[in-house]
Amino acid sequence: MIFRQLMDPISSTYTYLLADSGEAVLIDPVFERVRRDSALLHELDLSLRCTVETHVHADHVTGAWAHRKRCGSLIGVARVSGAQGADFYLEPGDQVQFGKRYLSVRATPGHTNGCVTYVLDNESMAFTGDALLIRGAGRTDFQEGDAATLYRSVHGQIFTLPDHCVLYPGHDYRGITASSVAEEKRYNTRLGGNLSESDFVGFMNNLRLPYPKQLDRAVPANLKCGEPIGLLTDEPDWAPLELTFAGIWEIEPNWVAEHLGDLQVLDVREPSEFSGPLGRIPGARLAPLDTLAEQPPDLDRKRPVVAVCRAGGRSAHATGLLQTAGFERVANLAGGMLRWRALDLPVEGAAD
Ligand code: FE
Repeated sequence: MIFRQLMDPISSTYTYLLADSGEAVLIDPVFERVRRDSALLHELDLSLRCTVETHVHADHVTGAWAHRKRCGSLIGVARVSGAQGADFYLEPGDQVQFGKRYLSVRATPGHTNGCVTYVLDNESMAFTGDALLIRGAGRTDFQEGDAATLYRSVHGQIFTLPDHCVLYPGHDYRGITASSVAEEKRYNTRLGGNLSESDFVGFMNNLRLPYPKQLDRAVPANLKCGEPIGLLTDEPDWAPLELTFAGIWEIEPNWVAEHLGDLQVLDVREPSEFSGPLGRIPGARLAPLDTLAEQPPDLDRKRPVVAVCRAGGRSAHATGLLQTAGFERVANLAGGMLRWRALDLPVEGAAD
């Protein structure tokens, strides 16, 4: 089984990727991280069967709708969540299949009515959403929050899992990634040890936390599985680009060769390589990587820029530097001059 824990640094949300036999499920994808997630799926050669939510989030918009639009993945939500537009609605005891493995659904209301916990088939992992956080618990002071209900959910549905079961929360604001049932039963400051239901209710009703910043935007969008209002605009449209999991926009050599007249090619190799045996792309301008960090090159900001080096590594870094310097239409030439030559595309100054 493949397992990855992914994080959205803006909302401190964890997204989980689980996959078996080439088939993946994502738990709690984040709208702004959909391109990152799909690049990872692509690089790991996985097809996304479905996305599932632990609940209707108040702090970020789900990526469920955007993933379905990109790759046709199914959207699953708890029936009691009240969300519209899903492809399947989960009930307690249901199984979410991926390859030969599955997650089973447990109802863990209290943070919201529709909160569920997903438990891996062999009970080695559980994804608790905002019901149980590491040494904490989700808020119970907005949406349909109810502290007594949450206490019973955690004690009845999560603390009854095997002690060694690793718990993965929906968030952590300190960067802690996982815990276990034994650990939380013992050390959770709100729900563990000898703390009673009334201790927990007293604690939760006196937190006095600020109103969540994203609530008015996130909840209505999540009740529609993350369908955005208006068009998605931040997808570059000047060329067919691929976003790598490292966050770099890449462009295919053949497309570059066919559109050389519309592009500015920036070669970031050393001068000796630029005039060396591999040759260079016709019309390419030399700006070695170490000069770029100091001074942005004198290029036309209205025309797209393609960065190139020997194998595509230095130019990936250059792409990031150019974006930071305010160039909006920038891409890295995939595979660099090595791939360009392997494809027998035109060069000047080559040894042969
Ligand atoms: Fe939440």
